[in-house]
Amino acid sequence: MSITENVAKVLSDIEQAAIAAGRDPRQITLCAATKMNDAQNVREAIAAGVRCCGENRVQELTAKLAENAYEGADLHFIGHLQTNKVKQVVGKVSLIQSVDSLRLLEAIEKEAAKQGIRQDILLEINIGEESSKSGLHREEIYQMLEKVAQSTAVRVRGLMAIPPICQNPGDNNKFFAEMCNLSVDITEKKYDNVCMEILSMGMSDDYADAIAHGSTMIRVGTAIFGARNYGV
Ligand SMILES: *Cc1c(COP(=O)(O)O)cnc(C)c1O
Repeated sequence: MSITENVAKVLSDIEQAAIAAGRDPRQITLCAATKMNDAQNVREAIAAGVRCCGENRVQELTAKLAENAYEGADLHFIGHLQTNKVKQVVGKVSLIQSVDSLRLLEAIEKEAAKQGIRQDILLEINIGEESSKSGLHREEIYQMLEKVAQSTAVRVRGLMAIPPICQNPGDNNKFFAEMCNLSVDITEKKYDNVCMEILSMGMSDDYADAIAHGSTMIRVGTAIFGARNYGV
């Protein structure tokens, strides 16, 4: 299937999953995970109806920006971000979804202040508490939010998670439900500069489940672009 056909299928799946969950399909944004896809593929996805692209690597982001690949879509950063590369991302993307440490938060804040802008971010949560994975552990979350509450240059718009790789369909439902609860708990605490309007969870294999559990943004790569060829 072509990228165009795949996008149509994912958009129609989103609609069905939302309706099945009693939700308005317009509450869910499709973020195309464009890593390892060239500008031409990205343009095809946007022409087919993708309104948001998520990039993982700074180098790819910079190269595709130079080719105007993302024209017509919002641009997000969704990969692990090193503090020394913050300059190349802050102000270039409307949302950094993958803020996973106090150090990174401080670096983004400093750069955004320097540019005189406000950078929207999500906090990436290590919801499966996996030692091999990035993302904040539960005990780190509130410290981050207190920092953001004092900030003039950074705003938290929600949470993002990459749950553990699962063996069986439905395995991640408990993590999706935990994410949803966490966002409700945070909302109740009423931090300045923090809102929980975005819950970024769900990928190619499990986005329908994520939507059933309150996801407002799914990040989909393979189901749009096909399997990535890591061999090249
Ligand atoms: C690659 C990637 C995705 C998409 O994964 P697929 O399984 O290909 O849909 C989502 N989120 C992040 C952070 C990614 O790096």
